[in-house]
Formats: sequence, structure tokens, C-alpha cells
Amino acid sequence: MILRAPFVLASSGTVLRDGFVHIEGERVVTVGEGGPAFRRARSVSSASSRVHSFDDSVILPGLVNAHVHLELTALQGLLPREQGFSSWLRGMIPARRDLESSGLVSGTTDGINLSLSAGTTTVGDISSTGVSQALLSSSRLSGIVFEEAIGLDPDRAKEVARSVVERARRGNDSPGVLSGISPHAPYSVSSPLLARLLRMAGRLRFPLTMHLSESPEEIQMIQDGTGPLANLLREMGILAGGYSGEEGMSPIQHVARHGLLSSGALLVHMNYLTPGDLELLSADRAGFHIVCCPGSHRFFGHEPYPLDQYRAAGISVCLGTDGLSSNDSLSMFEEMKEAARMFPGLPPKEMVRMATTAGARALGFSDRGALHQGALADVIVIRTPDFPTGSDQVLEGVVQGPIDIERTMTRGTWVVSERPSDGAANRA
Ligand SMILES: [Zn+2]
Repeated sequence: MILRAPFVLASSGTVLRDGFVHIEGERVVTVGEGGPAFRRARSVSSASSRVHSFDDSVILPGLVNAHVHLELTALQGLLPREQGFSSWLRGMIPARRDLESSGLVSGTTDGINLSLSAGTTTVGDISSTGVSQALLSSSRLSGIVFEEAIGLDPDRAKEVARSVVERARRGNDSPGVLSGISPHAPYSVSSPLLARLLRMAGRLRFPLTMHLSESPEEIQMIQDGTGPLANLLREMGILAGGYSGEEGMSPIQHVARHGLLSSGALLVHMNYLTPGDLELLSADRAGFHIVCCPGSHRFFGHEPYPLDQYRAAGISVCLGTDGLSSNDSLSMFEEMKEAARMFPGLPPKEMVRMATTAGARALGFSDRGALHQGALADVIVIRTPDFPTGSDQVLEGVVQGPIDIERTMTRGTWVVSERPSDGAANRA
């Protein structure tokens, strides 16, 4: 089929006028602009190929949400916001336990549908139950499910690591959904468990992700074993009474000595830097990717995000929604809007890149996040009330909205359609 629209945003840096995307099966054959190129594409397209023309619309690649917890979708609105990380976690631990008896499957399914209808076609999803792997595999959404490990008891490190790796191995036979491993966070994973998970992930070639340097409470706990987060975990009987931190190291320094910064991992949040952190990150900048979660950042009322420092150091940063337990939406369009508020000097093109190619690269996919020959045919069609007349306006419209997602296509098949499926189609 050939999709045609006044504008095709093939990548954050390439906006085509009178553009088209020629798709055969699950892949993009070619992307181009102008009548002559369109007619050439049409002449070589298969006999049964249709042309779908979208007036007043923009075609762009499906968005990439590099960090989400689809299993936590049912927790939307249940937890306190802007009252500090420890208060949130105090509510989160029992809420997550209760979720396992109700809302887990229906919430995860809702999360998948919300993502697709918001134009997200690839996710980096965190799973603590194994439920999302099966549901994602039978859906049109694709990506990586990172099986999550939590455990502060060093004596149980071997057992926890084995069970998480086993879950990842079981899930890794679906073509659209790969498995990865997620040591949850420095404040919830013991050093022996982290070391073991990194070793096993390296040997079995599982991608890694970890929440890191999310809150001041986390930094305080890891540096010297004090503060509200350490106290909460002790009160809950999760943290040993004698824990005194990681020899004065920050969370970033602590995971660095275990090799996480050179493992290709997605480091999620990275809201705070302590002295020495940036130097350490800069030295290993090709070995990891950062996922910034703007909606979650606002939810907790964190200090300004150190994006300028990451950019100046040449560190790759992409965007994620995090779970609805700490955000109001799973839409990457909302994340781009929030990112535009957080980083007013950043060009719209950069926000789009962070929600597309940067996310795809962070997850290890070279065939997503942009429309080019050989790319997976993950495509969305959007409309904006003020239809753009130039390339800059297209990028601004995508970031600032409001926009309507007219259609979402994954792997060459329409999954969300506002119009009847044949409404805009005619035979080539
Ligand atoms: Zn998260």
C-alpha cells in the first residue's frame, strides 16, 4: 500500500511535502515526496496495492515509549503526588500487592490499548509478574519486556536472579516482543543481586534497564544508609537495620562499580547528579542511554532536570511515560508537551527525536522510530486543528498539539482507525 499526505515526518530531521510512504508487507519500501516520485512508487508497487490519501494530515513514525509499566495502569490516581518519593512508595508497595488479585490483566490490557491509540508502537515495558509479556505478545504493540528483580536480602540474591532470568527466558520466543532484565533500583536491589543480574544478562545477551538517581531520598540512602527512604524500608522490614549505605557513593557511582554504565542499559530517570557523577557518566557515555520521564518528573515535583549537562556531555537521552502509578497519561505526545515545558529552549525537532529514534536506539532497534527503506511499517497519521503550512510548523504542531491520532499502523496493519477502514482508500 501507499500512504500519502501533505506532510510526511520521515524522521525528526526530515519533513517531506506532498509525501508518501510505500509499504509492502511489514516493511517500508520507500519514502518520498512530490508527484513524479509518487508515480514511480505507484508503478512499482504490487498489483493489489492501495493508495490511502490523507488530506490535512501528517504521517509520522510510530512513537517509542522507552519506559512504561503497563502492569501498573490500574493504579492511576491512587497514589499521593508531590509529597516526596518515600510517601509515594509507602502507598505503592501495598497497592502493587493488591493489584495482583485484581486489575492486573485488565489494567495491562488497557495500558496496551491506551498506548496504541496514543500513537505509540514500541515500548520498553517493566514487568514484575510476567503478565505483560503474554498480553503484549498477542497484541499489535511491540518492544522489550524487562522482567523486574527486587531483593535487598543478599542471601536470596541467587534465588531471585534465577527466577527473573527464567521468566525472561520463557518470554523470549515471541517475534514482536523481546525479553530483558531490570534490576529495579539501587534502593531495592542488593549489591550481590545486582552483580549476579549483570553477569547473567551479559552472558545471555538480555538488554538491561534500571531506575537510577530518581530522588534525593535514594541518594541519601545509598550514600550513608539514612533518610526517609531508608527509614521506611527499615520500618517495613525490607532493609537490614545495620545498613550504612555504599561507602559514601552516590547511586550512579554505586552501579558504575558493578559495570552498569558500560552494559548498554537504559538508565531511567537520572533526575539528580551529585559531584563526580557527570564525569563518570561522560567517561562511559557510549555504554548506556538515559530515559527521562517528564510526566513522572512533574508528578513528584522534582528539581529541574539536568538535560543541558547530559547534552553537553554527548549523552543520549530519550523519553518515557513511566507507569500510571506516577503519571496521568501513557501518551508520548503528552510527554513531548511536558518536555517542551521543562526544556523551553529545546527545539521541537529534539523533542520528536527523543520520542522516536532516540528511544528506538536506546532499546536496540535500528528499524523503528523513523520511516526509511527497510524500516518496520509502524506508522501513525495525525491531524492538528491549525494545519501546518511549513516544516517547522509540522514539528511544532506535533510537540505542542492539540492533535488527533487518526490512524495507527503496526507492522503494516492498521490497528487504530478513526475512519472506516476503506474510507480513504482507492485501488492503485
Ligand atoms: Zn518506572
